Formats: sequence, C-alpha cells, structure tokens
Amino acid sequence: MLQISNLHAQLEEQKILNGINLTVNPGEIHVILGPNGSGKSTLGRVILGDDKYQVPEGEIKFNGSDFTDLEPSERAQAGYFLSFQSPPEIDGVSVREFLFAAKKASDPAFSSSYKFKKGLKETFTDLRLPEDFTERETNLGFSGGERKKAEVAAMLTLDPQLAFLDEIDSGVDIDTIREIGSQLRTFTEDKTKSLIIVSHSDKLLQEITPTHVHVFLDGKVIETGGHELVEKIQAEGFDGYKPKVKGFEVI
Ligand code: ADP
Ligand code: MG
Repeated sequence: MLQISNLHAQLEEQKILNGINLTVNPGEIHVILGPNGSGKSTLGRVILGDDKYQVPEGEIKFNGSDFTDLEPSERAQAGYFLSFQSPPEIDGVSVREFLFAAKKASDPAFSSSYKFKKGLKETFTDLRLPEDFTERETNLGFSGGERKKAEVAAMLTLDPQLAFLDEIDSGVDIDTIREIGSQLRTFTEDKTKSLIIVSHSDKLLQEITPTHVHVFLDGKVIETGGHELVEKIQAEGFDGYKPKVKGFEVI
C-alpha cells in the first residue's frame, strides 16, 4: 500500500528526515516510537505533501503510484489520512460542517447531507461523545481527550485506506484510550486498512496489536521489530540508542 524509499526532508537548511525506508501492506499496524523532535510528525506531513518541507531525495508510492507530484487533497483522495497532533480550533465552523466539507473534498461522489449527519452522530455516540458535539464549533472548548476523539471521528468519517495517527493517545485518560483502541480494532478488522501510529505510551498499544514497531531517531528508522520493542523502550527509554558522548568525544 505505502512504499517509502530513502526519504529525505528538510526545512530550509535543517535536515529532518535522513533516509526513511518504510513499507506498509494492507492490514498492518505500524507503530513509531521516538524521542521528541526526531521527525515523527514531519514524516506524517511529508507523506501528505506539506509544501513547507523540501524533499531533495527519496520516493513515496501509494498503491503503486508516485505521490511526489500530487497535492495533499489528491493524496487524501487516494486514501491517506493524517490526524493532527494538536488539533486546531476552527471558529464558527461546526464539526459537522467541517467534516462534511472534508468528506466531499475527499470523495466527490459523496453528497447526502442527511445520511452524513446520521452517520456522524452514530460515530460520536460510538466514541461515547454526546451526539450534539457534532454541532459544536470545531475543537472550541473541547478537552484534550475530546479533541483526540474528534480526530478519530474524522478518520472514521473519511474512511481512508491508511491513517497516520499522530499521538492520538497523548493527554487521554485510560477509558478514552480503551474506546479509541476499540474503534481502531474495528477499523482494521477486515485487514484491508492500515495504520501508522505515533505513540509515547504502551496503553493504546496494549489495546491493538502492532504488526511492526519502529524506533525513530534523528529522522531515521534505527530498529524495527515487534511488540518487544515497546516493552524495551518503556523500560529503558531511548538513551541506549543515542551515541555515547564523553566530553566532546563520541566514543
Ligand atoms: P517529533 O514529531 O518526532 O517530535 P517533529 O517532526 O515535530 O518531531 O520535528 C522534528 C524537528 O523539526 C524538530 O526539531 C522541530 O522543531 C523541527 N520542525 C518540524 N516542523 C517544523 C516547522 N514547521 N517549523 C520549524 N521547525 C520544525
Ligand atoms: Mg510529533
């Protein structure tokens, strides 16, 4: 589904991604673990085609076609979804209006606003949010957990093939993590859809079963394995992966 080869990205002179290789097949759940500032969110945005970042080298293919020259909206239409690490507030635009506009943009054949409204209310109820949340201004006054649930609702509404969920579990209580986990299990149960999940905690990763775990450092995948890597990092942190520095000398 997604094939990333030797991907480099930078912001003016600052190199952020330094040769990422990542392949995601249908039904796989990939987890990215990495310290703050290692480039995890940048990877999600570069896959989407955020033009703030320059891509001097590398290739992103989605279902066999090259993403390089596609606009973010075309990448979304192709089936890629990126959640916000920090969901923004949108004054004067309800969640329903925002997601309806996004749904129409990602699927031009979609038109029924009645069916949409009904489906969205059900999605919110499944996430244990009051159904009148759909009429509230997007993220305005939402708690941290409510914002993250609204991101999950956006994913379920847009129904992508591949969702990159950026710290969807940060600042979220344990019951909400379980509810999000249950929605993600349903989303992936027929093994046609895939997830890339960036996380700093093992709680959500106990709710779903990652097929691949990647350790990210300085814009590179430095180790790939299974769930045992989550346990290792929860116990030891990332220090073991960093170059050992003594004085000014790298040993
Ligand atoms: P992570 O998600 O792993 O914490 P990011 O991808 O957000 O890391 O950021 C990687 C590095 O790139 C950081 O040093 C960050 O400050 C920098 N960076 C990323 N995007 C921007 C931006 N839009 N403006 C300035 N610096 C950025
Ligand atoms: Mg980030």
